[in-house]
Amino acid sequence: LANKKFHPEPSVVQVGPTVIGPDNLTIMAGPCAVETQEQLMSIAHAVKAAGATILRGGAYKPRTSPYSFQGLEEEGLRYMQEAKKETGLATICEVVSNEAIEAAVKYVDMIQIGARNMQNFILLKEAGRSGLPVLLKRGLSATIDEWLNAAEYIIAEGNPNVVLCERGIRTFETTTRNTLDLSAVPVLKEKTHLPVIVDPSHATGVYKYVSPLAKAAVACGADGLMIEVHNDPAHALSDGPQSLTFEKFARLTEELTPYARLA
Ligand code: PEP
Ligand code: MN
Repeated sequence: LANKKFHPEPSVVQVGPTVIGPDNLTIMAGPCAVETQEQLMSIAHAVKAAGATILRGGAYKPRTSPYSFQGLEEEGLRYMQEAKKETGLATICEVVSNEAIEAAVKYVDMIQIGARNMQNFILLKEAGRSGLPVLLKRGLSATIDEWLNAAEYIIAEGNPNVVLCERGIRTFETTTRNTLDLSAVPVLKEKTHLPVIVDPSHATGVYKYVSPLAKAAVACGADGLMIEVHNDPAHALSDGPQSLTFEKFARLTEELTPYARLA
């Protein structure tokens, strides 16, 4: 169902009031984790002013350590809904369980399956039945074919609204958090009709590398970007080192404008 052979036209996925597809570059931006209502609201206004159309914010955080901040859960989803009401931005939140999906459908426009859950087949099926568009991140060590099979699980449940997100893979290199596999973008464009976006924030783990790789992703034909932005990266509860300040994010979207079909 994800295969381009049987569906040659590129898919366009509707997310709340906006779309992800070949005709525009969709920018999703926001904090790694929703921390407080004030934090989320200030970030929402800043990313909207800079050209983002989808607000990201994690309310269920799959952290490497069980002692790290795990997210505000349903309270965080409510803040996402408030931010949507106030700014008109579409919203996306990661889900890590069936209960999280049940809660998310009440508050956000799109759900995200994170890298760590890309082969959680029970969760993929539940996402396929949720009725919401799904952003499917590439697993930490997943091949492109494994990733496309994961997408197939969602679509097979009757949900064709899947967007793929390359977010870096595990390699021997340790100077960046992961290694961004930009070749995945043209490879996927050959194999599937699904939209493809790139997340240079989790791919690099370092804010300085986010902007050059975001531009490279657009040059490779990505349909969108997911960028972590924080009002105070030094004090972020998660992923501060890779988060852009408002100023840096605004500069990036400005630099992308000549290349991008920005909304
Ligand atoms: C995230 O987007 O906050 C996240 C945890 O990403 P990934 O699943 O790609 O690590
Ligand atoms: Mn993060």
